[in-house]
Amino acid sequence: MRVSAARSVTASAPGRVNLIGEHTDYNGGFVLPFALPQRTTVTLTPADRWSVTSHETVTAGALEPTGTWADYVLGVAWALNEAGHEIGPFAAEVSSDVPLGSGLSSSAALECATLTAAIELAGLGIPLGARPALAQRAENAFVGVPCGIMDQSASILAQPGHALLLDCASLETEHIPFGGTVLVIDTKAPHRLVDGEYAARRSACEAAASALGVPSLRQAAGLSELDGVLLRRARHVTTENDRVLAVAELLRAGQVREIGPLMTDSHMSLRYDFEVTVPELDIAVTAALEGGAYGARMTGGGFGGCVIALVEPRDVANVAESVENAFARAGFTAPVSFVATPSGGAALV
Ligand code: ADP
Ligand code: MG
Repeated sequence: MRVSAARSVTASAPGRVNLIGEHTDYNGGFVLPFALPQRTTVTLTPADRWSVTSHETVTAGALEPTGTWADYVLGVAWALNEAGHEIGPFAAEVSSDVPLGSGLSSSAALECATLTAAIELAGLGIPLGARPALAQRAENAFVGVPCGIMDQSASILAQPGHALLLDCASLETEHIPFGGTVLVIDTKAPHRLVDGEYAARRSACEAAASALGVPSLRQAAGLSELDGVLLRRARHVTTENDRVLAVAELLRAGQVREIGPLMTDSHMSLRYDFEVTVPELDIAVTAALEGGAYGARMTGGGFGGCVIALVEPRDVANVAESVENAFARAGFTAPVSFVATPSGGAALV
């Protein structure tokens, strides 16, 4: 009997920026990301044992964490098996133009490209709506990063030309047309204290919810029983949820530039109430506004990473230059900027 050649499957998935709704996903709140044109591509070929190749090759005899970047890929196979969807060993080849570790979610892009290819390879009938949680489980339980569900939802569900309004409690979605010009400014700030601070913000939010006697800050009716740090953390989350809904309403009405001030308010809330910014992020926002942006804010978890600025197309160069000059004056590493248009979610190639 002839043995047929192993079939390969290739899929790609995008990174994302979050227009607004930061640190709300793990509080059962609202987020409004869109997918970037930059994507990660993964080719899976059935094999005798697990291997993952990007800038190096990592091999594994069993689906156990290796403590390397390859866990983002192996974790997806693990999460599928855990959920009862059997998938055997594969060789994975990875390539990507999503900047790594810049807060643009190269991790979700890698997970979601792997997941999309793996579902096809194993012939699994998993609906799109159930996929983000599987990719998130890979990152939470296998890699060990306690992220919410925003990044994986954007990478899987996003549609070209649209931002994705996601209710992280019900997982209801709405694709809202978005034609604004968004300049992404990678501050190149080294991520400092990210893991510990992220966990500390999550537990502060849980403590605030429990002091208010509600399951999550989404249900908070008022914050008058809180004070000090817990009040500020909770106030960020509740005001941010309101801002996301206000932005969604403006976009539905075609009032794009009017969302600018809400983006800037979001940044100030992340700076003073949630305290997840660093000088590079704050200076980039101030300089972008001075350069003529309608609004600007950090995007992603904070402590480094990127700022997004909403700009008129003719002002792109001015805004980028304003930030470059401010960084030069402050003695920071030069930032890298690009215009991002909303792109499509994960797909077979
Ligand atoms: P972000 O998701 O914002 O880019 P993370 O710290 O969550 O930042 O994830 C970045 C990590 O994901 C990298 O340090 C690396 O371990 C892994 N990773 C993502 N994409 C790739 C890739 N194409 N090749 C190798 N590792 C990758
Ligand atoms: Mg990530």
